[in-house]
Amino acid sequence: CGVFGVVGVADAANFVALGLHALQHRGQEAGGIVSYDPDHGFNSARRFGYVRDNFTKPDVMETLPGSLAIGHVRYSTAGSKGATAIRDVQPFFGEFSMGGAAIAHNGNLTNAAALRRELIERGSIFQSSSDSECIIHLMARSIQKNIPERIKDALRRVEGAFSVVAMTRTKLIGVRDPLGVRPLVLGRVGDSGWALSSETCGLDIIGAEFIREIDPGEMVVIEGNKVESFRPFAPAKSRFCIFEHVYFSRPDSILGGRSVYETRHQIGVELAKEAPVEADLVCPVPDSGTPAAIGYSQQSGIPYAMGIIRNQYMGRTFIEPTEQIRNMGVRLKLNVNRALIKGKRVILVDDSVVRGTTSRKIKDMILDAGAAEVHFRIASPPTAWPCFYGVDTPERSKLLAATMSEDEMRDWIGVDSLKFISLDGLYRAAGEAAGRDAASPRYCDACFSGDYPIAPSDKIEEGFEM
Ligand code: 5GP
Ligand code: SF4
Ligand code: MG
Repeated sequence: CGVFGVVGVADAANFVALGLHALQHRGQEAGGIVSYDPDHGFNSARRFGYVRDNFTKPDVMETLPGSLAIGHVRYSTAGSKGATAIRDVQPFFGEFSMGGAAIAHNGNLTNAAALRRELIERGSIFQSSSDSECIIHLMARSIQKNIPERIKDALRRVEGAFSVVAMTRTKLIGVRDPLGVRPLVLGRVGDSGWALSSETCGLDIIGAEFIREIDPGEMVVIEGNKVESFRPFAPAKSRFCIFEHVYFSRPDSILGGRSVYETRHQIGVELAKEAPVEADLVCPVPDSGTPAAIGYSQQSGIPYAMGIIRNQYMGRTFIEPTEQIRNMGVRLKLNVNRALIKGKRVILVDDSVVRGTTSRKIKDMILDAGAAEVHFRIASPPTAWPCFYGVDTPERSKLLAATMSEDEMRDWIGVDSLKFISLDGLYRAAGEAAGRDAASPRYCDACFSGDYPIAPSDKIEEGFEM
């Protein structure tokens, strides 16, 4: 998901709509904005579909006045069951004795099921199926006298990954979980306003100046010109999601002090060193494989070419919730550049193999077009473990790499060769010259290593074995 907030500018909701549009790649199912203005109080609009189709309409935007607003773009993750209902669309809102507050959450709470059970037993009435709603109910039960303190109380009880953007009548609040698994950045809007965004590309779109990242375990409370910083949690070593660099974030974002594009490009360079092969062309699987394919081509000297053309008007395939739609999506979205591919030995660079469905279909398309050989190079290590921290991966048994060796995967996909970047190679590309420090890894890489930095306690209770 993506979160965004703005304070201190007229018609803040318009800025939030733009910010969410820049973060649309983080969630395409639905979006919502809450604003506050003294005449109308809190206002909210939640809609299915793209930001541009909903939050550009005058009849929607007119209902969101005020100089303080937050928003959210949603895609449902492992935590949520089935399709999104409108009641699952954030921001969530709560009315407390000291006034209302709205929150938007990116990430996944790993103890939400246990908390929900406990809260329901004690009288909470849940409106949604979302793990994030626990935060509002925990705030309601807090005995603290102001909302920032209640947010601290609530977030000290949750486990998992969270980048939260919240608002009261006057304050914009941002928090990152102690490990900083999901990103969150702070920007300056003109000389009166502030913005919080999942990624720096959300600041760029509104012309905001990137000030800094919110630190792992940090909470900022912004009111007027003042940005106050708190450390509500016990200190921990940060474990930013390495998959944000591989796939999830936009390549023009700068996260963890590093350009996402640069990391992806370097992944291609590392891959060409680790897994060279003789071929005529290096082609990306658009768009997520593009920077790595450029790096592979530059390092190997094999020409880069667009062997697969993407229809600009389709969304990210993976993010549509059902498997059936996902399978269809691949053909709706991608087509082969036949004139280029015929008779060629082609290296295809993609970001990841999850179920393997995408790779298999792409291989079929490339062979149908008359390619002489197909070699897959993957910009991440084999995805052998599910993510419980906010990226949608299927259960372990559906992950190709959980049940097959690399050679078996190659044969199942049906290509001449298949190679994944090593975990060390990925760390080198992400700026760790010495590779992965096994004793104290810099990033979360659980979906590749099975090394979960936060115990997925709900899943363990359901029988998940680490
Ligand atoms: P597969 O068909 O192997 O299950 O899907 C892998 C493809 O889905 C990759 O090409 C990747 O670009 C795309 N994808 C979209 N969203 C995600 C995600 O949340 N996690 C992973 N690992 N891949 C995703
Ligand atoms: Fe990111 Fe993978 Fe960790 Fe999930 S398990 S937070 S996708 S690195
Ligand atoms: Mg892809």
